[in-house]
Amino acid sequence: MPSRPDAPPTPSQAVADGTGAINVVVVEDDPLFRAFLEETIRDLGYSCRTAGSGHDALAMHHQQHADIMLSDWRMPGMSGIELCKCTRTSEREGVYTYFILLTSYSDKEHFLLGMEAGADDYYKKPIDIDELRARLASAARVVSVHRKVAQKNEALRRENEASFWDARVDPLTHVSNRLRMDEDLKAVWARVKRYGHRYAIAICDVDRFKAYNDAFGHVAGDDVLRRVAHTIREQLREGDGVYRYGGEEFVALLPEQSIAEAAHTMDRVRLAIEQLAIPTRGSGAGVVTVSFGVAELDPTSDATPNQWLERADAALYRAKAKGRNCVETTPPPSLGAYQPT
Ligand code: GH3
Ligand code: MG
Ligand code: MG
Ligand code: MG
Repeated sequence: MPSRPDAPPTPSQAVADGTGAINVVVVEDDPLFRAFLEETIRDLGYSCRTAGSGHDALAMHHQQHADIMLSDWRMPGMSGIELCKCTRTSEREGVYTYFILLTSYSDKEHFLLGMEAGADDYYKKPIDIDELRARLASAARVVSVHRKVAQKNEALRRENEASFWDARVDPLTHVSNRLRMDEDLKAVWARVKRYGHRYAIAICDVDRFKAYNDAFGHVAGDDVLRRVAHTIREQLREGDGVYRYGGEEFVALLPEQSIAEAAHTMDRVRLAIEQLAIPTRGSGAGVVTVSFGVAELDPTSDATPNQWLERADAALYRAKAKGRNCVETTPPPSLGAYQPT
């Protein structure tokens, strides 16, 4: 998902940027002191950008994430305190900016105000290079912990996404499984009710498959299921759904197809499977064939996705009774009977 153009970088961007370099942004309105800090911080081995105002610093940070912000308190326009608050409120989960307030205020009240605004550290001027090195090293340790957590979270997110999809694929045939089918049918149902789109469904059942297994064994039978599933998938459009419904049964979900168009499509699939010419015994054709039952969703008479499936199943039953290796349909009651051409 692309990120908002005005938003700070995502954790994954920040992590991807993190080749080990820690990005420091120095915010200081005094140009001489700014240049001194920049040189010193670079000499300490950090990548350093500088800004003369809080607004410039925020723009810089939104363009490329600042791991550490070292900011003066008193500046014209946005003060260091305001910059700190803005940095905190625009922070997204997993991306952290370690904020060091740099100031000549040495009283407790200012220290408390700074820490309450969200600063991690409060550094009183004048600067001592050894002390600055130690404070930056401590900040870098915190940044590195945040990066590791962000990396782990990103890996977990990817794993979750992968297992979400794995849980919806049939391991034998690699088409979608029953869980995915149930989810898709529910979504289609809602879409048809709201927008009135057309959908047809086909149940595809391998003919006399028990006899095939008995003759050639289950391993060969599994291979037939894979080839049949592959052929159904290959013959349909990318936007069509193909699911393993049960043992030797598949379902095809065909968007924007009338019952006549769906019957025509599935007849093409039927022929392609026959043309695989997988030898078998016990079927009239001498090769593996499939029977199909097709029904178009009719929201005025189908009360649930299951009723729609039942009408497709009734058509399949008729295809079997007619001698198998053919396509039968159950027209939606409101559309009248489908006449094959
Ligand atoms: P019909 O033409 O009426 O559909 O006859 P059929 O023999 O195909 O139907 P039946 O329901 O009697 O048998 C289905 C067979 O499908 C029985 C079962 O062993 C086989 N089967 C179901 N799942 C698998 C599978 O994952 N692998 C293999 N090899 N066979 C399976
Ligand atoms: Mg100042
Ligand atoms: Mg069956
Ligand atoms: Mg069968």
